[in-house]
Amino acid sequence: MPGQSAGRPAPPAGRHLPPPGGFTPPRGGVKRTPGDLALLGGPPAFPHPLTVGRPNPVDRTRLFQRLTWALDNQWHSNGGPLSLEFEARVADLAGTRHAVATCNATSALQLLFRALDLSGEIIMPSLTFAATAHAAQWLGLTPVFVDTDPRTGLIDPRLARAAITPDTAAVVGVHLWGRPCDARALEKTAADHGLPLLLDAAHALGCTLDGTPVGGFGAAEVFSFHATKIVGAFEGGAVVTDDEDLARRVRALANFGKGLEHVSAAGGTNAKMSEAAAAMGLTSLDALPRHIADNHDRHRVYREELDGVPGITLLPFDPAERHNHQYVVIDIDPERTGIGRDLLLDLLRAENALVLPPIGAPPCHLLEPYRSTRPVSLPHTEALTARVLSLPTGPTAAPEGIRRLCEIVRFAVAHGAELTRRCRTPRTESR
Ligand SMILES: *Cc1c(COP(=O)(O)O)cnc(C)c1O
Repeated sequence: MPGQSAGRPAPPAGRHLPPPGGFTPPRGGVKRTPGDLALLGGPPAFPHPLTVGRPNPVDRTRLFQRLTWALDNQWHSNGGPLSLEFEARVADLAGTRHAVATCNATSALQLLFRALDLSGEIIMPSLTFAATAHAAQWLGLTPVFVDTDPRTGLIDPRLARAAITPDTAAVVGVHLWGRPCDARALEKTAADHGLPLLLDAAHALGCTLDGTPVGGFGAAEVFSFHATKIVGAFEGGAVVTDDEDLARRVRALANFGKGLEHVSAAGGTNAKMSEAAAAMGLTSLDALPRHIADNHDRHRVYREELDGVPGITLLPFDPAERHNHQYVVIDIDPERTGIGRDLLLDLLRAENALVLPPIGAPPCHLLEPYRSTRPVSLPHTEALTARVLSLPTGPTAAPEGIRRLCEIVRFAVAHGAELTRRCRTPRTESR
C-alpha cells in the first residue's frame, strides 16, 4: 500500500480497498453457461469487491487543514465554529431557518421526541432502518408500524391516518432510499389531529419534493451524517426546522438541558457534534455536488443496462425532482425472473459483487423487540422487502463494473428457472 510505513500492521488484504488507481474489470470471468457462475464453481467476475455502503471519499488535504485549524483554535466541542458553519450549510441545503448538529441521527430523533415532550404512540412505517423505531422505543415511546404503499415502498398516508388513536403522540414519515414520502398528505393528517409530523430524512439530503428541498416539511426533519450516507461526518446528525423555539430546545437538550427552564422529567443528555465530526462533515459537504453527479451517472448506467430485463425493475424516481441516488434498489419479480431475490443475492455475492438487502429489509416489525411484543402483519411491507436488493454504487463501482454486474443479472434472469433448479439450497444467512 502506498505510504504505509514499515512495522505497521497491514489492513486486511483486499477486503475493502480497490487497488491503487481504481477498479479495473477483468477480461475473463465471462458467463457463457450457468456453470461459469461463481456460485456453481466458475471464477468470480470481480477480483476486487464491488461494494454497497462504503464512505464517499473527501479531500484529505482540506480535512486535515480543518482539523489542524480546530486544534490550533483549541475548541473541540460545545458549538465550536466548525459545527456552527456546518449547521449553517445544512440549513441552507434544507432551506430551513435552523439546523442543530448532533452526534448522530438516532440521538437527533430522540432529542426531537423529548423537545416535543411526547409520550404514547409514534406512528411510523415499518419499512425503515431500525434506528427510526429504536429511537422511540429507547425513550419508552411505542412505535406503531403502518404498511407501505406497494408502488413506492413509502409510508401510506391513508394507513397513517387510520392508525391514529387517542394515544398517538406524533407521526414520523421516512424518505426511504432518498425518495421523499408524501409529506404533504402526512402534514394534513397530522394537522387535522393536532399532532406533530416529524420526518426521518437520513437518506434524502439534496433531494426535493415538489421542487422543495427535503428538510422543510413537518415540524422538523432529521438528517444522518453517518459514514455510509451521502454526506458523512464519521458519525453525525442534524435536526432542521423553521421553528425557532423547537431548535432552541433541541440544542439545549443536546447539551444536558442547560439553559432550559422547563425540561421534561427525563432531563437533558449529551448529543453534541464535535469539531472533528464537523470538520469531516464540512469537507464531505464540499464534495456533495460531485457525489450526486457521480451517483447520477452510475444510476443512468444501471437504468440503461437493466432496461427491459423481464421482472427486474429499478425503483423509479420522479425525473422532475432532484435526487442524490445514494441507493440503487431493484425489485425482483420471482415469477417473471424465475430466480427470486435471495438466489440473485447469493449469485452476485459469489461473483464478489457485495449486494445487500436494502436498508429496511427486514422491516422493523419483524425485528426484536417489536416482533415478540407487538406482532403485526404488514403484507405490502413484507412482500416488498423480500423482493428488493441494493446494488453497488459509490466510488468503487466504476461504470465498467456496473455494466459487468448488469450483464450477470441479465444472464441470471435468462437462465432463471434452471438456476433455481440447480441451487435449491435454502439461504440461512442474512444481514
Ligand atoms: C442511518 C439511518 C438512521 C440513523 O442514523 P445515525 O446517524 O446512524 O444514527 C435513521 N434512519 C434511517 C432511515 C437511516 O438510514
